[in-house]
Amino acid sequence: MEFQDFEFFKNQCLVGGQWLSNGQSVNVLNPASGEVLTQVPLFAEQETQQTITAAANALPGWRAQAANERAKYLKAWHQLLIKHSEQLAYLMSLEQGKPLAEALGEIKYAASYIEWFAEEARRVYGQTIPGHGRDKRIVVSHEPVGVCAAITPWNFPAAMITRKVAPALAAGCTIIVKPALETPLTALALAALAQQAGIPDGVFNVITGNAEPIGETLTASTVVRKLSFTGSTPVGAKLMAACAPTVKKISLELGGNAPFIVFEDADINLAVEELIKSKFRNAGQTCICANRIYVQQGIYQHFSKLLAARVAELNVGVGTEPSTDIGPLISESAVQKVEQQLADGVEKGGQVIIGGKRHALGGTWFEPTVLINACEDMLCAKQETFGPMAPLFSFENEEQVIAEANNTEFGLAAYLFSNNVNVITRVSEALEYGMVGINTGVISTAVAPFGGIKASGSGREGSHFGIDEYTELKYLCYHISDQ
Ligand code: ADP
Repeated sequence: MEFQDFEFFKNQCLVGGQWLSNGQSVNVLNPASGEVLTQVPLFAEQETQQTITAAANALPGWRAQAANERAKYLKAWHQLLIKHSEQLAYLMSLEQGKPLAEALGEIKYAASYIEWFAEEARRVYGQTIPGHGRDKRIVVSHEPVGVCAAITPWNFPAAMITRKVAPALAAGCTIIVKPALETPLTALALAALAQQAGIPDGVFNVITGNAEPIGETLTASTVVRKLSFTGSTPVGAKLMAACAPTVKKISLELGGNAPFIVFEDADINLAVEELIKSKFRNAGQTCICANRIYVQQGIYQHFSKLLAARVAELNVGVGTEPSTDIGPLISESAVQKVEQQLADGVEKGGQVIIGGKRHALGGTWFEPTVLINACEDMLCAKQETFGPMAPLFSFENEEQVIAEANNTEFGLAAYLFSNNVNVITRVSEALEYGMVGINTGVISTAVAPFGGIKASGSGREGSHFGIDEYTELKYLCYHISDQ
């Protein structure tokens, strides 16, 4: 079956329950072949205004529903994602390039947020607080913030949407999603399935188009009360400034530069396996990817050999082929960034022990690469690589590695490997990061609060904290008279 025949396939935008185009469109490409998959509309200011109105019109009816009614819709949506997971994964792999197994994993992960927040919808508890006088009663409730907007990236085309949309809907908000133009088809498929699940018109809208006019219209609107953004730090900072005049509530999940620290007493085989998962998932294009790998001196050589041997086993290929471990990068500029970091690393004394160049497949494939003798003044120590290159730094002691790991403006994820509870406790407490993986390279789950500090953003997604981002506190102060 061709992907165009999938029952959820859409190449129009969903606005107030209607599938719309506007006569202008842009190609959606397969990054593996450069082939045009389809076209999607290029919406701009006027269509964005129309969508804001649709989301505003849907708000009173949606927020008035009982929490268990909203939960029912979310559960139906969750079921549809699971039912169509194989086809959704195929579509995602086509437009994004990631291996099928990873795409399927992402669909299930995306669905898990919907299930989680369907459950959380019913647990948005308020409080009563002892009043400040005999005649006073204080009652606190969480109210939906209102119309929300979400701007999402291409690296996780499904999960970055559901971790915003599910808590928003669970809380009683309506939402407008603008996905990345690289991967709009997964977003539109999610919207089609939400519609099939019976989620009322206007509650969940998806618009595609040029980022700037859409972003400007959403951020300038007084009707939109919340923006949730996942993407690069410069764009996040710009959107944060654009939200200032209307004082919107914001959540930002931005860039990372994750340290991955391996102490001499660690289980080295485990550390290598977890590094493979953390570093090479999605060809290294995740914001929580290990970016700087710090290995203690005594095991440095042994560790690098084991890692290189393991990297040699990784299969580079087309994402939709089941045997592929590493797909193409999303674009030519993504490849150039890896090349630039690598050239800089080699010039500053680094040594490539495996990989090191564009893959023979051509296009935007890059060989999984290990660079040893990496040091602090290399670009790869300072910038997010977002590609399949693993630079190995050597360190002497705890104090030194903590200082180097924290020497970045970012603060999203960090990883540490040790079997000494004292080391684990001291180091994890000293790391200036929102998330720390201890003896694991996989930390993402709907049940934990995902997010960063410093230039990696603010706000949390997932867990019971994730729904707070879509609610505002209101308290009622009662005067109770004696009679
Ligand atoms: P990446 O480097 O991962 O592509 P970006 O921050 O450029 O990260 O993109 C993340 C999301 O932000 C995408 O949906 C993109 O279209 C959108 N975006 C990029 N620039 C702007 C902008 N100026 N205003 C609003 N959205 C933007």
